[in-house]
Amino acid sequence: MPQDDDVTELDEIVVIGQRRPAGSSGAYGGGGGRGTGAPDQYEIDDDPNPQPDGPGYDPCATPEGAAAWNADAAAAKAAQDFMSEAIRAGGNDVGPRGPNMRNREWGAFLLKSSGRDIEVGTIIPGPEIDWSDLTTDFSVDLTGANNANYMGDVHTHPGGSPLPSGEDWDNFLASNARARNTPPGRPDETFYMYVITINPDGSIGTIHVYEDAPGDTDDPPPTEIGQEVNPNGRPC
Ligand SMILES: [Zn+2]
Repeated sequence: MPQDDDVTELDEIVVIGQRRPAGSSGAYGGGGGRGTGAPDQYEIDDDPNPQPDGPGYDPCATPEGAAAWNADAAAAKAAQDFMSEAIRAGGNDVGPRGPNMRNREWGAFLLKSSGRDIEVGTIIPGPEIDWSDLTTDFSVDLTGANNANYMGDVHTHPGGSPLPSGEDWDNFLASNARARNTPPGRPDETFYMYVITINPDGSIGTIHVYEDAPGDTDDPPPTEIGQEVNPNGRPC
């Protein structure tokens, strides 16, 4: 079904920003968070200029802001791509109203492509979930990922948790450390993890972002639910 590749084409939607606080029903605004060139609209208390939600704010004006912006957009695209793959898989991956995203976990790495663009890496299906035995393991496909282009990962939680598991977080930090420390190294890079919740009916829920910026104290895994990413986010 090659036409599935078009599901993210939402040209009529004007996107103001890519993130909002978890649980909010307000508008998405602001780009990257702590440690980047893009201030977070919800944490501003010193009246920077320009305001991230003001008319003069351009999240794409700095490399750091653009990276966060494009990572968010890639995560939003990944959610659409996962659903397309579920439809392609057929069988238990399709429910009465569309893709059944509860049948298995889906994941991919996020990779730097040309310039500051970020693309969704190879998508592979996890094993079908046996809800009576949730001990199965799932790793995303490493094809095409290396220490120079790795930017993070995006994966679904069919059980609905918006938080990374301990294993998710450990793997994320290990990959980030490798990318930062393997010569020539990327010590100033911020890496991104996106957890996509799945609703009980098998539809996509919300996309939550977690960042690992240089100098962050990252252990243990986050207990605060990450900001929601605009599912219609577009890249810079
Ligand atoms: Zn997970």
